[in-house]
Amino acid sequence: MKVVLQNLTKIFPSRNKKANEEVIAVNDFTFEIPDGKLIGLLGPSGCGKSTTLYMISGLQKPTGGRIFFGDDDVTELSPENRGIGLVFQNYALYPHMTVKQNILFPLQNLKGADKMDKDVMLERAYQAAKLVQIDELMDRKPSELSGGQQQRVAIARALVKMPKVLLLDEPLSNLDARLRLQTREEIRRIQKETGITTIFVTHDQEEAMSISDMIVVMKLGVLQQIGKPQEVYDDPANLFVAKFLGTPPINVFAGEVKGGKLYLGEDAVLDVPGVDDRKVTVGIRPEGFVPAENGAMVCNLSNVEVMGRDVSVVSTHPASLNPQIRSIVDADNKIADAATVRFALKPHKVFLFDAETEERIRF
Ligand code: ADP
Ligand code: MG
Repeated sequence: MKVVLQNLTKIFPSRNKKANEEVIAVNDFTFEIPDGKLIGLLGPSGCGKSTTLYMISGLQKPTGGRIFFGDDDVTELSPENRGIGLVFQNYALYPHMTVKQNILFPLQNLKGADKMDKDVMLERAYQAAKLVQIDELMDRKPSELSGGQQQRVAIARALVKMPKVLLLDEPLSNLDARLRLQTREEIRRIQKETGITTIFVTHDQEEAMSISDMIVVMKLGVLQQIGKPQEVYDDPANLFVAKFLGTPPINVFAGEVKGGKLYLGEDAVLDVPGVDDRKVTVGIRPEGFVPAENGAMVCNLSNVEVMGRDVSVVSTHPASLNPQIRSIVDADNKIADAATVRFALKPHKVFLFDAETEERIRF
């Protein structure tokens, strides 16, 4: 099921009457989520991810704009009538019910024409449980399950009604690191197997990048960029997006363009044809540095961390806006134990931004 957001906006009234500062949690979102894809809604805490998800689910009413599922305008529909499945960060299982009863619950509540026979409900519950691989645990209570198993039950409960759209709000946040990795792969597998259009909310860029067909990067209620994870990483629209994606994060410098060359301090480090003379903010990905004897960029070497396949070179530079520069280079490079290290730069790993607006300047 395709989901379309049209000028979707949510304004919360001020919590403090005196301050009278309303919050624009979601500011004029217009985008389309293609049928059968997994979309990651990504941004720092407070940027409006949950609010967007709750409006799509019907739990919150938009201040403005419309929501379509396929060609149907669902903006005024109640959550029960939208055909959605919801999973939250805290699993919210009924503690006094067994796993089976928890999964059956949404089916038992169906009314009218949707009412189901007991056998059909049971079969559906077992199908959903199999999909998330908890069909062996059907008679346990939630307290007898691990966090990861509980979250699988919550996913099975969301899937049992065969939703048209699956909405997941930071579903992995309460799991430990290993389970988080494993469960996110599970979610991806289930999504592919079922083909259910899925919207996955997270503040974790690596998580979003690794499982999404498309990511939507948000900041303070404003949409920053939409695209395939690799495309957004390789071609960020602004400094915020460039900084938000990637580990280790992008290195940021204050630079200046003069006569078609990019200067970091005294060093002309790269040709940037077609860019007018101006001050710029420069982002260089860690993998954009190539150790080279005559490299144009001269950094003060702090230390070298060997990580097997790669080497992480930590250095400083007067034009750097971060305390340290972190570059990742192939372990075949011999980094001499000296006071300085010189780098050549890979042009497609260097991004220029307007020093004021932080919008991308292309070259
Ligand atoms: P996220 O899920 O990205 O962390 P939210 O969607 O929860 O962000 O919140 C977006 C903004 O809206 C935040 O500034 C938050 O404080 C505000 N907000 C969320 N819910 C309410 C509410 N019920 N009343 C007032 N402000 C809210
Ligand atoms: Mg949230």
